[in-house]
Amino acid sequence: MALFSRKDKYIRINPNKSVRSSSPQAKPEVPDELFAKCPGCKKTIYTNDLGPAKTCPHCHYNFRISAQERLSITIDEGSFNELFTGIQTKNPLNFPGYEDKIVEAKAKTGLDEAVLTGTAEIEGRPFALAIMDSNFIMASMGTVVGEKITRLFEHAIKHHLPVVVFTASGGARMQEGIMSLMQMAKISAAVKRHSNAGLFYLTILTDPTTGGVTASFAMEGDIILAEPQTLVGFAGRRVIESTVRETLPDDFQKAEFLQEHGFVDAIVMRQELRQTIAKLLVFHGGK
Ligand SMILES: [Zn+2]
Repeated sequence: MALFSRKDKYIRINPNKSVRSSSPQAKPEVPDELFAKCPGCKKTIYTNDLGPAKTCPHCHYNFRISAQERLSITIDEGSFNELFTGIQTKNPLNFPGYEDKIVEAKAKTGLDEAVLTGTAEIEGRPFALAIMDSNFIMASMGTVVGEKITRLFEHAIKHHLPVVVFTASGGARMQEGIMSLMQMAKISAAVKRHSNAGLFYLTILTDPTTGGVTASFAMEGDIILAEPQTLVGFAGRRVIESTVRETLPDDFQKAEFLQEHGFVDAIVMRQELRQTIAKLLVFHGGK
C-alpha cells in the first residue's frame, strides 16, 4: 500500500541534514561472536564472560535479554505458570503484512506476544509477573499486549497477589493505530483497581522503555526500579532536539538522569534484582 511505503531510505529530521535511519553502531543485543565490543565501556569482551545475567564484566553494561532468560535469572526454578496465551490480534487496520510479521516474531522468540504473563514465586512468595521482550516487534504495545497485562492485573486482584512488571518497549504498535493507544487507558484502569484493592505493584524499567508504555503502566508502579543505563523516555531524543531546538545532555533519558529527577526510586544491578524483589514483596505484605 502506497500510504505506508517509504521511497527514501533516509528520515529527514532537519531539512539541512540527512540522518541514516539505522545506525551501524554496537548493538545492545547479546553478540553472536566469540568476542565483541561492549557498547558501554568499548572494551573487547569474551562473550562467555557475560554470564547468565548477560552483563559486561568490566562496566556491568546490561545486554538485552529475552523474557525466558529474564525468568531463569529472576524467579524460583519451576515456579512459573504461564497465563493468558493464545490471544490473537484482529489486525484492526488491515495493515499489510502485519499477520506475517507476528508469525515471524513468534517463530524468532518462541513467545506468544511481546509480553510473557503468568504467576511465579521468589523465595516461595507468589506474585503475578509480566515480562516484555524487545525481540518481539520491539515489544510494541498492541491490543494483545494490553489484554494480557489487563487480565494479569485482574487475576492478581482476584487472588490477592502483588504484580511485578519488567517493562521494555518501543512504544505503541503502529500497525494497530489508535487501538494500541487505547491500551494505555485500559491497563491504567486495571492498575488503579489493583491499587484500590490495597495490593502492591512493582515496575522494573529495562532497556529500552519508551513511548506509550512509559506514558502509562511503566510509571504507575508503587515502586519503580530500573536497571543501570536503561533508556527511558516518551519521544525519541532526535525528535525532542529538533522540536525544542536545543542539544540535550548526554545522559538525558537514562535511568540515572530520571532517578536524579525523581521518576525512578532506585537503580538496581541486574544480578541483585531477584533479592531486591524478594525484599520488597516481604515489606509490602506478600503472602
Ligand atoms: Zn562494558
